[in-house]
Amino acid sequence: MALKKKKTLSGGSVLKVKASVAPLNFGTQWQYVEALEGSDHVKIEPKYGLFIDGKFVEPHSKKYFDTINPANEKVLSKIAEADAHDVNLAVEAARRSYDNVWSKMSGKERGKYLFRIARIMQERARELAVVETLDGGKPIRESKSVDIPLAAAHFFYYAGWADKLEYAFSGRSPRPLGVAAQVIPWNFPLLMAAWKIAPALATGNTVVLKPAETTPLTALKLAEIFQEADLPPGVVNIITGFGATGAELVSHKGVNKVAFTGSTEVGKKINRAILGTDKRITLELGGKSAHLIFEDASIDQAVEGIVNGIFFNQGHVCCAGSRLLVQESVEKIVLRKLFDRMQTLAVGDPMDKNTDIGAINSHEQMKKIEGYIASGKTEGAKLFQTSCRLPSKGFWAKPTVLSEVAQSFRVVQEEIFGPVLTVQSFRTVEEGIEKANNTPYGLAGGVWTDKGSKIFSVSSHLRAGVVWANTYNKFDPTSPFGGYKESGMGREGGISGLLPYVQF
Ligand code: NAP
Ligand code: MG
Repeated sequence: MALKKKKTLSGGSVLKVKASVAPLNFGTQWQYVEALEGSDHVKIEPKYGLFIDGKFVEPHSKKYFDTINPANEKVLSKIAEADAHDVNLAVEAARRSYDNVWSKMSGKERGKYLFRIARIMQERARELAVVETLDGGKPIRESKSVDIPLAAAHFFYYAGWADKLEYAFSGRSPRPLGVAAQVIPWNFPLLMAAWKIAPALATGNTVVLKPAETTPLTALKLAEIFQEADLPPGVVNIITGFGATGAELVSHKGVNKVAFTGSTEVGKKINRAILGTDKRITLELGGKSAHLIFEDASIDQAVEGIVNGIFFNQGHVCCAGSRLLVQESVEKIVLRKLFDRMQTLAVGDPMDKNTDIGAINSHEQMKKIEGYIASGKTEGAKLFQTSCRLPSKGFWAKPTVLSEVAQSFRVVQEEIFGPVLTVQSFRTVEEGIEKANNTPYGLAGGVWTDKGSKIFSVSSHLRAGVVWANTYNKFDPTSPFGGYKESGMGREGGISGLLPYVQF
């Protein structure tokens, strides 16, 4: 690490180190040198076609759009825009391969392909992590330690189920549904693709997947991996495009199953679009999840959990702990420790291994976050933001806390999907639970206390699909995930994640 001495006003000296995009600011005494992840080993093609029937092909419209790096706004590649004609070709390819190959193959053989895909993902993990970070803006540390290993783990896990489905549904004979249309968002691009594709293939279905327009690259890398793994053509087709492409896909009459992860607004549209058809559907939607910090909690541990729950990955997490509910007697100390900890968060170049908070995924999302912060202030919230400096190029947001908010504020009720935490206090357990449940969402929650009995009683009263106790944002392929209320329908992950893809 290159360290430079710098004279201070008082005549002493501090160690200063050069940083690239945003200097990582660790108070007045220290600045760390950039520790950039290399990207020379990564090949991003100047242009990507649609992955249909095992091959990359030109889109029917011949139209391409740019995918950019949100940390510096540079174009990474040109991406094909699929129209109705391409959607039809992809669904037909998936149907042919379902009828002729995949549904006839034994579970054991299907499992071998999934294991092979998982192993290649592991071999190419560094490349996938770099591409994920360049295309989406998340810190390389997270892509490397969370997104890519978990994505591979999902393929490994469901590979194991492929030849054991009769044990997953004992006494019943599960059969696949046919062609699955899967539409995913931009916050965990490869991981969401793995969540969707692995259980579908393990159960004998074929797939047409549409990644988000701002983060298509790792799905296209995954298509290369399917080629490398010799996955039979048409078993997975990847079509890129905008919302209209997703809408064409989910309403295509050749589709038997729709799996969507994204916003509640689009989830509702999709639900309406398929009403009256015999398509099966699962929806993984938005959230406004709460941390409940009780006075008997380990405060330092809880503060770390809060930071992890909302600030890492720029708050681009569906189950982000975006509301802090803290027992009144410890509110002051929790906030003091939280603000201190937030000041140490490094915001800047996502490719720097020291970075905690990377770039906001798109200009549109940055504007949405800024709009919510302004709305919170107008409604009367007190604002705290860290003193970090943001880079001039790219899309960024400072870690933000809005305290003194009321339950009715928009910032308390609506999903912001950025590094913005609201704070409310409560006195009794009942009041805490009541506030935690009082939003249209029900995706996740966090309970912080040293009393085991309180963990059980509070979590059983939270209307949330996942409740973490004395930790937050922990994922495992064996564990089901999904929401209550406007956070969705159905579960993904674990044995429960097989169910949406089978019939009896
Ligand atoms: P989004 O706007 O709903 O988009 C999700 C996907 O749907 C994208 O691929 C999008 O394409 C596509 N799409 C847009 N309009 C469509 C339509 N009418 N029909 C079919 N597809 C359409 O969500 P996002 O902004 O990408 O992602 C953020 C949201 O995802 C947040 O609300 C977050 O909570 C949620 N999320 C939920 C989970 C969960 O498991 N519950 C996990 C991750 C994220 P374009 O990209 O081209 O617009
Ligand atoms: Mg991009």
